[in-house]
Amino acid sequence: MPFADVLGQEKAVSYLKGLAAGGKVPGAMLFFGEEGVGKAKTALEFAKALNCMDPAARAQGDSCGVCQSCRAISQGTHPDVVFADFLYQARLEVKKDFSSKGYEEELEKELAKQQHINVDTIRDVTAKSQQKAVAGGWKVLIIDAAQTMQAAAANALLKFIEEPPYKTLWILITSKRATMLKTILSRCQPLAFAPLGEETVKQILTATQQDIAYADLAAKYSGGSVARAVKASQALELLSSAQQGPGWPCAVAGALSRTLAVSRVEAQSVLDVVLAALHGAWVTEPDPQKASLMRRDLKKFEDYKRAITRNVSPALVLETALMSLDGINVKIFD
Ligand SMILES: [Zn+2]
Repeated sequence: MPFADVLGQEKAVSYLKGLAAGGKVPGAMLFFGEEGVGKAKTALEFAKALNCMDPAARAQGDSCGVCQSCRAISQGTHPDVVFADFLYQARLEVKKDFSSKGYEEELEKELAKQQHINVDTIRDVTAKSQQKAVAGGWKVLIIDAAQTMQAAAANALLKFIEEPPYKTLWILITSKRATMLKTILSRCQPLAFAPLGEETVKQILTATQQDIAYADLAAKYSGGSVARAVKASQALELLSSAQQGPGWPCAVAGALSRTLAVSRVEAQSVLDVVLAALHGAWVTEPDPQKASLMRRDLKKFEDYKRAITRNVSPALVLETALMSLDGINVKIFD
C-alpha cells in the first residue's frame, strides 16, 4: 500500500487514512514541518488514496499504487491532480515550446531563478480548480513552498480555498508556517509533520540517493530532515577532501561553487555540519566550565552562518570560520 512508502510520519499518515476512508475531507489543508520530512510525498499519496480505482485499497483509506489513476499521479500526468512547485512554475515561465531545442537549458535557468510562488501560477492553478474533474474523482491542488507566496498571490488564492466545490481539496505545503499570512492559515486545517528519526533518515538516504557519502554521519547531522542530510553529505565530502595540512580552511573555501547562490548554500551546509557537531559535543559535556565555552563557540558559528547570507563572499566567511576551529576541540568525522 503506497502510504507505507511514507517513512517516519505514522501519525500524519494514519490521520489522512482516516479522512480518506471516512470521506470527511476538508476543503483546504496545510501540511507543515521541517523541509525534507516527506510532506510533498504524503500529499501525493493522499491524492492517490482519494482517487484510487481499487475498492479494497480505498476501503482502508489507502491506494493500490498500480491502477491507472495511481500511476498517473506518480508520473505527474493525472488531469485532476496539480502539484505546483518551483519546477511547475518554471515550466509555465519558459517561453520556448517544450519539444524545441534548448528547452531543458532554458528550464534549468528559470528554475534557478525561482524564489516565490507568484500570482500567475496561482491563477493557473485556481483556473484548473474550477474545471470539471476529468476522471470523475477528487481534484487535488497542491501548492509547495506556500510561504513564498507574496500578498498578490495569497490574495488570488483566498477565495478559492475558502469554500472549494465538493470533491476539491487544496493542500498547501510549508516549512515556515510562522511567516504565512493569517488569512491563509485560518482557512486551512493544519497537519503537523515531525522531524524524522536518525535511522529513518538513513533508510531513506540509502534507498533514494545513489552512492551517498557518509550516510551515517549525514543522518546524524540532519536534524531529522532528508534534504538537510543530503546537504550534510555534500558538506562532509567537501571537508574530507581538504582535511590535511594547515591550509585546509582555504582549500575548503576554494572548492565552493563559482556561482554565488550555490556557494552560499554550500558554505551554509558546511557550517551546519560544524554546528551540529559542536552542539552534539556541548549537550554531552559534563564539565560546566567547558560547556559554557562551547556555548560561546556555538554562538560564534551561528554568527558566521548569518554572515554568509549578508556577505558578498561566502568563501571568505567560511575560511575565517574554519580557521577559528583550530583552538576548538570538535570531532566532525567521529
Ligand atoms: Zn490505485
